[in-house]
Amino acid sequence: MEEVILITILIAMVGAFALIGIVFSYALPTPSQTDKASAAYYARLFLFFLWLGFVFLCLRALDMPALHAAGCNISFTLAAYMVFLTIIKRHGKQPRTSHLALIIAHLVVVQVFSVMAFWLAIPFWFSDVLLAISVFIPQLLALQVKLTSMDRRNPGDRVLCHLLLVNILVCLTSVPVYLFDVVSSGAQQMLLAMGLVVVLMLNVMLGFAASVIHSLVVRLRKQIYQDPLTKCHNRHFLQDYASTFVDTMQVHREKVCVLVTDIDHFKSINDQYGHLTGDRALNHFTYHLQQELRESDVLIRWGGEEFLVVLPGCSVEDASALAERLRQSVARQPVIIDTHSIALTASFGLAEVARDCDLFAAIDRADSALYEAKSSGRDKVIVFDPNYRTDRAMSMAFQ
Ligand code: GH3
Ligand code: MG
Ligand code: MG
Repeated sequence: MEEVILITILIAMVGAFALIGIVFSYALPTPSQTDKASAAYYARLFLFFLWLGFVFLCLRALDMPALHAAGCNISFTLAAYMVFLTIIKRHGKQPRTSHLALIIAHLVVVQVFSVMAFWLAIPFWFSDVLLAISVFIPQLLALQVKLTSMDRRNPGDRVLCHLLLVNILVCLTSVPVYLFDVVSSGAQQMLLAMGLVVVLMLNVMLGFAASVIHSLVVRLRKQIYQDPLTKCHNRHFLQDYASTFVDTMQVHREKVCVLVTDIDHFKSINDQYGHLTGDRALNHFTYHLQQELRESDVLIRWGGEEFLVVLPGCSVEDASALAERLRQSVARQPVIIDTHSIALTASFGLAEVARDCDLFAAIDRADSALYEAKSSGRDKVIVFDPNYRTDRAMSMAFQ
C-alpha cells in the first residue's frame, strides 16, 4: 500500500514538473517564422509523452504488466521523436516524408515487439533493451540535425547541442543501472526512473529556452546595429564596437584610416524623382561601395546620405587609392529606374587614425576633408593633411 502511495506521488511530481515546463514554454518569445514557432508544440508534446511513459513505467511496479507493455515503450519513443521534431522545427525545417515514414514504422515495430514480448512472457529486460535502442535512434537523429543546422556562433544553439549530447549519455549510462536492477524494490527503481525523466525534461527545456532566447538576442542585436534601409551598420554599431576595435588595432600597431563620404546633390534626386527613388539611389550607392570594400572594412551609415568607412590595416596611400576607386565606381554607374538614368557622384574625405587621437577625432578630420571636397567642386577625394593647420584643414585633391 505504501508503495502505491509513493508511486502515485512520484507520478504527480513528474506531472507537475512537465506542467511547469509546458507553462514555461508559453512564456518564451515566439519566433516570427511559423515553422520555428511550432517547435514549442513539439517541445510540449515531448514533456507530455515523457510523463505518460513514466506513468506506464510505474504500472509495472503496480503489478499491471499488460498496461505497462501497451504504453511504456511507445510513449518514451514518441517523446524521443518529439525532441527530433522540435530540433527540426527550431531550424525552420520541415520533416522529410522519409523521416515521417521512418517514425511511423519505428513506432509500429516498438509497439508490436513490446506487446509480443508481454504475451510471450519474455523477461522485462528484453523490453527495456528495446526501449533503450528505440529512444537512442531519435536522439541521435536530433543531434545530427542540430550539428548540421546550428549556428555555431550562437551560444544558445551550442548549449542545446551539448544538452542533447548529455541526454544521450544519460540514457546510455542509465540503461545498465536500470537493467541490472542495482536498486532492490520497485518503488526505488521508480525513484531512479523519475530522476532520469526529470533530468531529460530539464535538459531539453533548458536547451530549448537557451536556443530561443539567444536567437532573439542575435536578431535584436542585428536590428540594433543595422540600418533598416541600406542594411549597413549604423551609429550604434560604431559607438559599441568600432572604437574598441580601433584601440585593438592601435595596440597591435596596425594603421587604421577612416573615410567619410556623402552623395552629391542628393536632395535634388529626392525633389525630382521622389523619396522612394532617393531610397533606391541610397541602396545603389551602398551596394557599389560594398563591392569595392574588403570583408574587414566596416561600412556605417553615418546619417542621411552620409557614410563612414573604417579601414583597418590600411595606410593613407592605400586608403586614398581605394577612395578614388570608390569615387570612380559610383560615378561610372548611374541609378537606372524604369526609363530614367540618374547620374550619381559622391565626395570623399579621408583621415588616418593618428596615434595621438581617437577614432572620433579622426572622423572629425575626415569630415573636414569632406567639407573641403564639397566646397571645392564635389565628386572628389580629399585627404586630411595634419600639417596643414587651419579650422578646415585641407590637402591634396585627387581630382
Ligand atoms: P551636398 O552635395 O551638399 O551633399 O547636397 P545634398 O543635396 O546631397 O545635401 P543636403 O544635406 O542638402 O540633402 C540631403 C538630403 O538627403 C535631404 C534629405 O531629405 C535626404 N535624405 C536623408 N535621408 C534620406 C533617406 O533615408 N531617404 C531619402 N530618400 N532621402 C534622405
Ligand atoms: Mg549630400
Ligand atoms: Mg549630407
